[in-house]
Amino acid sequence: MIQHSALSPQHFLNWNEIDDVLLDMDGTLLDRHFDNFFFEEELPRRYAALHGLQLEESRNTLMAMYSSVERELAWTDLNYWTQRVGIDVVALHRELDHMIGFLPGAEDFLRYLHLLGKRVTIVTNAHEAGVSVKVAKTGLDRHVDRIVNAFEVGYLKMRPEYWPSCARLLGFDPTRTLYMDDDEGCLIAAKQFGVAHLIHSAKSSSQLPPTPLAQFVSVTGFSSLLNGRPAI
Ligand SMILES: [Mg+2]
Repeated sequence: MIQHSALSPQHFLNWNEIDDVLLDMDGTLLDRHFDNFFFEEELPRRYAALHGLQLEESRNTLMAMYSSVERELAWTDLNYWTQRVGIDVVALHRELDHMIGFLPGAEDFLRYLHLLGKRVTIVTNAHEAGVSVKVAKTGLDRHVDRIVNAFEVGYLKMRPEYWPSCARLLGFDPTRTLYMDDDEGCLIAAKQFGVAHLIHSAKSSSQLPPTPLAQFVSVTGFSSLLNGRPAI
């Protein structure tokens, strides 16, 4: 699904104009079903059991907690959540790691980027402890040059402060950079900084319908990014 009328569905990326590829992790490369299930289902279930609450009450309490630190590093800080909810969320990540996996076509896309010789960096809001569990499960790190978590940059990606700081850290030229994410706020912040090539991942979870955005090139899967090349 391409939401951009001026561009041919098969050839809308000119790779000659791109040196750096920045890719979000959860919801772009990895199936966000894990994260959705973890924070919206399993953690509320565990929290309810711990505190003798009804599931709905527990879920509402946790959702309010999540909202209270939205856009701050604490939002994704697994050590913070372990402390705040009294449940070892890192251990719980490992316990559920059978649910962690690539979105369809993600590995083919990463191999294609490697063939093109691009510098590929995962830029994630996720906490280092969560990244470790996902890397151990998927081998994601073998496909990319570097994984940068938001704690190294000092801000989450939807914050305008993130982008100049990340550009300094990685040394990328925003006018020759492609960035792909499933989060609208993160794409908007990158656009405001001047990242030239932006793609929205519309199908973030294998278990949910796609949610295309009108203001960005919005794709379901990776096939349209391969410029007509068959999967590798
Ligand atoms: Mg994401």
